[in-house]
Amino acid sequence: MSKTIETIGIIGAGQMGGGIAHVSALAGYKVLMYDISSDRIEKGIATISGNMARQVSGGKLAEDERQKALSRIQPAHQIADLAAADLVIEAATEDETVKRKIYAQLCPVLNPTAILATNTSSISITRLAAQTDRPERFIGIHFMNPVPVMKLVELVRGIATEDGTFEAAKEFVHRLDKTTTVSEDFPAFIVNRILLPMINEAIYTLYEGVGSVEAIDTAMRLGANHPMGPLQLADFIGLDTCLSIMQVLHDGLSDSKYRPCPLLVKYVEAGWLGRKTGRGFYDYRGEHPVPTR
Ligand code: NAD
Repeated sequence: MSKTIETIGIIGAGQMGGGIAHVSALAGYKVLMYDISSDRIEKGIATISGNMARQVSGGKLAEDERQKALSRIQPAHQIADLAAADLVIEAATEDETVKRKIYAQLCPVLNPTAILATNTSSISITRLAAQTDRPERFIGIHFMNPVPVMKLVELVRGIATEDGTFEAAKEFVHRLDKTTTVSEDFPAFIVNRILLPMINEAIYTLYEGVGSVEAIDTAMRLGANHPMGPLQLADFIGLDTCLSIMQVLHDGLSDSKYRPCPLLVKYVEAGWLGRKTGRGFYDYRGEHPVPTR
């Protein structure tokens, strides 16, 4: 039986790990943040502090709540520091080899009753669970980006996930004041199974010269009432993550309709990964984003 969840361990202090730490600390959980270097952890915590400050200036959060929440977030400099966690959420880079290595280091130090969750966008929960010592206490808790804003969290059970694990994950998400939806464990789950082929198609539309970056994004914003254009959204998600999800769909479902657009591959090869690296389908280094094609 799992005990009450009080302390959340987070692996990966990037956009998603930072967002999950942010909402967990505001909901009163203690948070331990781990990444490959102390620098990255510090940068992650500084970003959370800045994002909470924006919520304060927007009147959505009181300054004393921000201070209290920040004091609940502690760096975990060693993976062994996550031993105190009741729930660990892995939000490291979308690469199965990276995640497997993390679980191999983590499981021996983790409390035997702790639940291990992954925020993967697309990789099989059952396959990841099989790499751990606790497939029955392993689950997909898939947050959307940006975590403090997006209301939905997909819960994905692996074949061995126990009911107690599922219920504990659901309770945790509800305490964050978010809505859960349940997806079966198939490549990319529900949201990304539908969203990523659309983004990939937008990149093909650019690649084949049907429209410019601006034309495609304006068309979908004003013509389909999407709040963001698909290329703007791709930059926001991260082009490496987009490519990785398309590869998972392509490999997992063996259907050529999921073939990643060669232009997406080229951007990733260039290291133009979108907002997080300052350049993707738009260049973010100036005052306003400028299309790169
Ligand atoms: P990111 O690149 O912003 O952050 C990834 C972090 O993982 C980096 O800080 C990196 O240093 C860290 N990391 C890499 N290897 C590590 C290791 N061995 N140990 C500890 N930390 C390690 O990526 P992100 O956008 O935050 O994505 C993280 C996860 O969340 C991925 O699985 C992704 O599919 C998923 N996700 C992303 C989005 C999105 O829109 N970006 C949405 C939902 C889910």
